[in-house]
Order: sequence, then structure tokens, then C-alpha cells
Amino acid sequence: MYACGPTVYDFGHIGNFRTFLQVDILRRFLKLIGTPVRHVMNITDVDDKIIHNAAAAGISIGAYSARYEQAFFEDLDALRVERPEIMARATEHIPRMVELIQKLAATGAAYQAEDGSWYFRLASFPEYGKLSKKDFGGMEDGARVDLDEYEKDSARDFALWKAAKPGETSWETAIGRGRPGWHIECSAMAMEYLGESFDLHAGGEDLIFPHHENEIAQSESVTHKPFARHWMHVRFLLVDGRKMSKSEGNFYTLRDLLLKGYKASAIRLALVSVPYRHQLNFTFDGLIEATAAIERLRTFYQRLVTGRFADGSNPALKTAAEKAQADYLAALANDLNTAEARAPIFDLIRAANTAIDQGQLLAGDRHAILAVLASFDAVFDVIEDRDAEPTRRALEWAAQTGRLADVAPELLARQSLTDEAIDALVAERTLAKRQRNFARADQIRNELAGKGVVIEDSKDGVRWKRK
Ligand SMILES: [Zn+2]
Repeated sequence: MYACGPTVYDFGHIGNFRTFLQVDILRRFLKLIGTPVRHVMNITDVDDKIIHNAAAAGISIGAYSARYEQAFFEDLDALRVERPEIMARATEHIPRMVELIQKLAATGAAYQAEDGSWYFRLASFPEYGKLSKKDFGGMEDGARVDLDEYEKDSARDFALWKAAKPGETSWETAIGRGRPGWHIECSAMAMEYLGESFDLHAGGEDLIFPHHENEIAQSESVTHKPFARHWMHVRFLLVDGRKMSKSEGNFYTLRDLLLKGYKASAIRLALVSVPYRHQLNFTFDGLIEATAAIERLRTFYQRLVTGRFADGSNPALKTAAEKAQADYLAALANDLNTAEARAPIFDLIRAANTAIDQGQLLAGDRHAILAVLASFDAVFDVIEDRDAEPTRRALEWAAQTGRLADVAPELLARQSLTDEAIDALVAERTLAKRQRNFARADQIRNELAGKGVVIEDSKDGVRWKRK
């Protein structure tokens, strides 16, 4: 499968990451059910915006895009998005793009304009519009557009290759000196790694037109074969019921949310809480709900792993585990219904918690329930607590880029306490309790609670965790 990757000109926002996360859900589900996955993603490291921003910053496009490519990978790691098998940078595939344009030119589907740029002749591909189901019947033959992104009204012959302009990065090639348009990139790299026809092409819903229409036109004009057999388009998200925009003040990057003190795992779960085919309304209440859901999962997992249970097994729990597993897989198999897939897992946790409370969960049940949690986590990947690292990195980044003022005060307070300092305070509290100095013991508990550290007393001893 091929999924359109980022244009590395800025930090990704949560709408971008919703798309990458939903594709991650797809690839993980395919692997879970035993389907081998070869996943290709492009990195657009040359385009109008990169050239413009790099010039404004007074650095080369390579230096400029490398910075945001690294940020993109850090953000993917924070969100636990698996890396595709192949990641392809546009600037490393220029010869393939040139070859494709030459083939298009040979059939008359591409032509060169007076300035040396190459365009795709829309009139040569009557099926144009079949993916977006738009009617381009009235379009003007020969009208051209050289922007990478454009609206329906201006569906015109689009740029495949842009002739070099003074001061712009360009490549000397058989079709002249210049740089590729955005659309030709994806056709060239998808076919390079996946062949002329492949199973699935994914991307955000905004890419349907013109980007994916253009990919189809360029590719099928050369191969006369279906380019992608299936298309998956992830719907955009709203934030608090409105379109996300900087001017509305509801625009968030992943880093913005980490600095507000939200955990990366909660952001991951919140962004996949609604199936890809539906619009997600992202809210802070939703993030808090996701945080609580992850807490329930982790607490239950700990309880199951560390608990001491009597021998034997409980047939009712065995049945409940089998049902949860079947319902979970069926929900994902139903067009990746992530919302429905969660329900049976939490039903099982409720039933198992009740059974533990009543002494009815037995040693033999543990394995069956852990197996269900493992298959849940193979796709959702939130149970193991790896949240400290992304937060630490975001804080480091904030310090380096002068954004510490954006950090939530609770988060700063929480981070100021090292694990060793917490261990020492917890030990002091245990000693105070033993000495019946309950005032001091309570004082320590409250102090830690104020910094987001929760102490849990159990018969196995004292445990603490960061909230
Ligand atoms: Zn693409």
C-alpha cells in the first residue's frame, strides 16, 4: 500500500496525525490478521512552500526540510506510529519522475510550455474525475495551473515539471532544468516500489482532488492499468466543532498538546476514537476521556499481571474472553470501526474486575484475558506506559526554541521531581507511618499528589506512579 506522506515545511498538526494514525491502525490490523504489509510513504522535500520558507529563512531547501522531517519522525514515534517499510524522499527519485514525464510526452499526454515547464494534458484522459466523482466536462482545453494545490474551479492542465526559476533549487535533466511538481512524485514512487497496480492507496480526504485524481491520470495514461485497486481517505477533524485554523485559535500541533500536559498515548487514542470514514470532533474533554480509558486499561493490566490467583479456571470468564476477542476483531474487520472495537475490551475488563473482587478470577483465566489485551494493543498500542519520553522530549524542544512559556505549570512541577526524589519521599513516608507520625505521612502524600504522583498502598507494598 501507498500512503501520501508529509510535506516537510512545518510541524504536523493533529489533523495530519489523525490521518497517519488511521493508516497505522490499518497496517497493524492487517498484520494482526496475518496479511503481509509493504507500506510505502513519500516525504515531499521539495515544493512551493518549502522553497518559499527556505528562502525566507536564508537556508537551502535540504537544510530546511531536514529539520521538519526529523520533527515529523519524532512526532510519529511519540504517537507510536509504526514506520512504513519504505520511505521515499522526492528529491532522491527525480530520475524516475523524469522517465514518467518522458513516457507521458511520448503518448501526447504531456507537453512542454514556452517557459520550459511540462504539463499534463487533461483532455487526453477522459476518465479524469472518476475518483472524486466531479464533472470536469466544461473545462477549458489548454488552460494551465502550476500551483501544487488548487480548487475544483481551476481544474486545468497541471504542472508535471516546473522550469527552473532564478534562485530556486533545480535539477538538470533530459527534459530540461527544473524541479518536479508534487503530483508526479507520488505516481513515480508508488510505481517504483509497488508496481503499476497495487492494492491500496491512502491519504487525507483533502487529497482526493486534485492530488489523487492527478496521480491516477499520470499513472494510468502510461500503464493503461488501474493504479490503486482501493482508496482509503481519512476524514478531517474538527476542533471543538469548528474547522481547525490558526486564526480561530484552535490549531494544535502534537507538541502543543504535549506541552499542555496531555500524554502522547491519550492523544493517540483520542485521534483514533472515531473511525476514519467519519469526521472526528476533537475536544479536550475527549482527551481527558482517553486519558481515563488508558488509566483503566493500565491499572487492570497491572492488577492481572501482579495479582495472586487460586488455581483453576472460570468457564464464564473463558467465554467472556473469547467473545471479547471475536467482537473486537469483527469490529475492526468492519471497515476499521475503531469505536466499536473498544467496547468489548472494556466490557471484558469490567467483568474481570468484578470477578477479581469476588475471588472468582483464577490463575488459568489470566492467560486468556492477557491474550485479548495483547491483540487490542497490537493495534491500539496504549497499554505499555511509554509516555514519559515524548513529554521529556517536548519539554527539551520547548526549552531549545524558547517556548517554555507555553508549558502548563502542572507539567513543569511534575517534571521537576526525579524518580529518585520520589523514591526517597515514599521511603520517608513509609518510615513516618511505621513511627505513627501520620501527620508527616499525609503531608508527603499530599505534596506528591500536588505534583501529579499517586501513591498506592497494597498488600505487596507501596507503589507510586505519575498521573
Ligand atoms: Zn501523494
